[in-house]
Amino acid sequence: MDKVECVVIGAGVIGLAVARRLAQAGREVILLEAAEGIGTATSSRNSEVIHAGIYYKAGSLMAQMCVGGKRALYRYCGDHGIPHRNCGKLIVATTPKETEKLQSIRAHAEANGVGDLQTLSGMEARALEPALNCDAALLSPSTGIIDSHAYMLALRGDAEDAGAACAFHTPLLHARAAEGRIELDAGGDAPMSLECRLLVNAAGLNAPAVARNIDGMPIELIPPAYLAKGNYFSCSARAPFSHLIYPVPEPGGLGVHLTLDMAGQARFGPDVEWVEKVDYAVDPARAERFYPAIRRYWPTLPDGALMPSYSGIRPKIVPPAVATQDFLIQGPREHGVDGLINLFGIESPGLTSSLAIAEYVGDLAGV
Ligand SMILES: Cc1cc2nc3c(=O)[nH]c(=O)nc-3n(C[C@H](O)[C@H](O)[C@H](O)COP(=O)(O)OP(=O)(O)OC[C@H]3O[C@@H](n4cnc5c(N)ncnc54)[C@H](O)[C@@H]3O)c2cc1C
Repeated sequence: MDKVECVVIGAGVIGLAVARRLAQAGREVILLEAAEGIGTATSSRNSEVIHAGIYYKAGSLMAQMCVGGKRALYRYCGDHGIPHRNCGKLIVATTPKETEKLQSIRAHAEANGVGDLQTLSGMEARALEPALNCDAALLSPSTGIIDSHAYMLALRGDAEDAGAACAFHTPLLHARAAEGRIELDAGGDAPMSLECRLLVNAAGLNAPAVARNIDGMPIELIPPAYLAKGNYFSCSARAPFSHLIYPVPEPGGLGVHLTLDMAGQARFGPDVEWVEKVDYAVDPARAERFYPAIRRYWPTLPDGALMPSYSGIRPKIVPPAVATQDFLIQGPREHGVDGLINLFGIESPGLTSSLAIAEYVGDLAGV
């Protein structure tokens, strides 16, 4: 059986960032990916927003990783020429009642280390975005957007330059952990068996299923997997905004918000649709819920302007009744299996947090 120091499962943004981190520390790394290339799952089905870190529970891994990851990501984008734009975001209150909530959002952000939010009157917000209906707003200057595919290509390049190898069409089927070593069986085009000292499970939506296929991993520590689909609609009319526009969050979600891609094209979403299986089709009928929500802050959105676009699926590890979850990163201290690190529930802000998560995994692995 071939031996390798480290195997990373999954070539999404998290697996790529982790493979880069390990390879740059001088470790021998193989990245196993079931699909034909990098970033074909959740990592290419998201809003491509560099989040500031405003809403996450204070002290949570999400809050820490987002704030640290954001700084590292802006630096990385600058150093590597990754297309990105620090365009800022407005959180828009459209009624006096919503305006009252802005101060508590700002205080929460400050507790998370996001101290740069600015409170704007309706007039000040409209000076930035004349098409906005707005009672008051918060401006988040550190929010931005990124070309996530260019970012993943750069991570892959760094990892390969440091000696990592990617094996595509190579799903992990089964693993056995014993005495500090982990034996793996992978299928696909070129089935192989490998032995490694470090196995990082970054399989996204599939991470709980992968963990269940590792003999020795305590089953009771593997979280359940739930799927919360987020649908996006694009806009045939030109949206007259240069900032990302978010309503004041409502219980259970961030509300229907407007994000921009690097070409300046607006998209609305994601909403929340709990599903039983992975299916990325967008039901055009869901647009009916988007129109009234968007018109609260953009009253002149033309009839018929919304077109079904794409969707992504959040890797939830808590059921719909539980409002929030945190990233769950388990090392040997949590599960007792030497050399195994599991990454569960890496939903938003996973893209923003990717470099910080890779750093955290590197520390857990002692590299
Ligand atoms: C709707 C939506 C919007 C989002 N918006 C944002 C945003 O604006 N900003 C932000 O910071 N974050 C955002 N996120 C979160 C971000 O997209 C994810 O946190 C991130 O992409 C997760 O990356 P990953 O590598 O863990 O998972 P994935 O990208 O899903 O990668 C996992 C990989 O594992 C592979 N795999 C699975 N099983 C196996 C196996 N057995 N063997 C080998 N390979 C396997 C899969 O093929 C896949 O390529 C959003 C998420 C969603 C769903």
